[in-house]
Amino acid sequence: MAESAHSTATLRLTMGDLRIVHPITVPNAAVPAAEIVPALQGLVNAVVEAAERGKAISCRKGCGACCRQLVPVSRTEGERLLRVVEAMSVERREILKAKFAAAEAAIEAAGLKEHKGRSDRELSTTYFAMGVPCPFLEDESCSIHPERPLVCREYLVTSPAALCAGPSQEGVTPVAVPKVSMAARGLQEDGDDWFPLALLMAWARTRPRKAAKRTGPVWVQRFLKRLSSGG
Ligand code: SF4
Repeated sequence: MAESAHSTATLRLTMGDLRIVHPITVPNAAVPAAEIVPALQGLVNAVVEAAERGKAISCRKGCGACCRQLVPVSRTEGERLLRVVEAMSVERREILKAKFAAAEAAIEAAGLKEHKGRSDRELSTTYFAMGVPCPFLEDESCSIHPERPLVCREYLVTSPAALCAGPSQEGVTPVAVPKVSMAARGLQEDGDDWFPLALLMAWARTRPRKAAKRTGPVWVQRFLKRLSSGG
């Protein structure tokens, strides 16, 4: 009998007050880490669902205020997103390319292209003040919603949506969602860094081309190890 191409395991995680029981399915073959991103998306969705249970979430389609924030993306997610872009029509890719170029120019002009040595707070406040929309934002909605980064999934608020557009974010009340996305950083090798999503194309020009291949279960074990050690 042919061996199954995928393995499924039920993850049982305790994160603060949250108990997550989630089946995760990954390829058995040795694959690049980007191949297990869909499984991680499912895991983050399950964590978010548990965290938002019983809460009145204000986020709605068509409200893209938070899509002007700095969105940190890991190398592994970056590789997945590049494939998502590659699968788009030529016309859509051209439009996106122009939006990424505009975002990159604005970030460079503000001196934010290099993020090392700056505090997260300083970075995120300065970035948000620029008002650069995420290149994937269309009509104030996410054009890649099923493929949006893990950190985008983890951001939900219960405060009035109008507050999210305020420069100081005063009064904005995010739901306390465990930051599972952090464990995707350094997944391929220690020190593999993050970059702002709006710099995806800039990162693509200089990104490491050599990607390790491991079986899906091994990637998940590495991810869970990073998760339990705080990313
Ligand atoms: S990827 Fe989508 S959800 Fe995330 S910031 Fe961009 S438009 Fe918003």
